Amino acid sequence: MNLSLVIPVYNEQDNLALLFDAIYQTMKSLGKTWEVILVDDGSYDRSLSILQEYAAKDPGHVRVISFRRNFGQTAAIAAGIDHSDGDIIILLDADMQNDPADIPMLLTKLDEGYDLVSGWRRNRKDNAVTRNFPSMIANWLISRVTGVHLHDYGCTLKAYRRDVLEGFRLYGEMHRFIPVFANSVGARITEVVVNHHPRKFGRTKYGLERTAKVVLDLFTVKFLVSYSSKPIYLFGGTGGLLMIISAIIMVYLFVRRIFFLVAVTGSPLFQTSVMFFILGFQSMLMGLIAELLVRTYHESQRKPTYTVRTKINLDGDD
Ligand code: UDP
Ligand code: MG
Repeated sequence: MNLSLVIPVYNEQDNLALLFDAIYQTMKSLGKTWEVILVDDGSYDRSLSILQEYAAKDPGHVRVISFRRNFGQTAAIAAGIDHSDGDIIILLDADMQNDPADIPMLLTKLDEGYDLVSGWRRNRKDNAVTRNFPSMIANWLISRVTGVHLHDYGCTLKAYRRDVLEGFRLYGEMHRFIPVFANSVGARITEVVVNHHPRKFGRTKYGLERTAKVVLDLFTVKFLVSYSSKPIYLFGGTGGLLMIISAIIMVYLFVRRIFFLVAVTGSPLFQTSVMFFILGFQSMLMGLIAELLVRTYHESQRKPTYTVRTKINLDGDD
């Protein structure tokens, strides 16, 4: 199997016929083996029965997963990826805001040797105030913090080689951070400008609150990617810094006591110093506990702390 399209569907009844038309049209011209996995994320409109009709008509290509309730777009994407077979996985939205006609362009980029091609909705057709502007800031922030520079993390339309999707799981709202995880396992990443259309039918499931979640997720992602195999560097580093500040304050207080006869306990600096010492010490201990957790994590799953691209003259698949 060459290609797996993975599409999350939540109350998109009026978009599905258009979506299937566009997919069939694009796939016909491509001449690759393909499948499309549609994950119904607990829709309460007619989406599921429409998907069932298409699956019955074309069991060779159309596969459907139906959730018991709404678990969110990321969970739907994760389920689709878990059940996919293709060497290349393409994610897109079901609402026809992404254009399936862009798929060949993404594939051309993969053929150039990239492992991940990210769509960039340069001309995005969503609400400027609640979506486009916050998203611009979020993209800038994510790029700065993670060092993976993309213009449009939020664009679902992206193409992935299967091997860069293995080795991490998606939680919360994290599908937009796949490029960051993929980068951490050594993926070669690029982006291309893709079409974006205003939503014709149904309505968006997101608003301004989404950006807040993205910023919180960014903390987790940064921590996981940069420190998950060496948490003591973060906790120990912070702890050490706090203890050094504490020591400097103490020295200052004692010098002041001895040469200028000012009482040590008479100023809030003393309490501050004690507090910093305790916090710093605690932080170091937390770092040690985190180190234990990391070992349990890797060893219980036999997860190596590295990723291999190819092996030569060694047993293994490549
Ligand atoms: N979606 C989903 N579960 C959800 C919310 C959304 O599967 O809980 C799907 C939705 O059907 C669509 C895609 O995720 O295919 C993107 O959703 P939406 O168009 O609402 O997001 P926007 O384009 O406004 O960012
Ligand atoms: Mg949309």
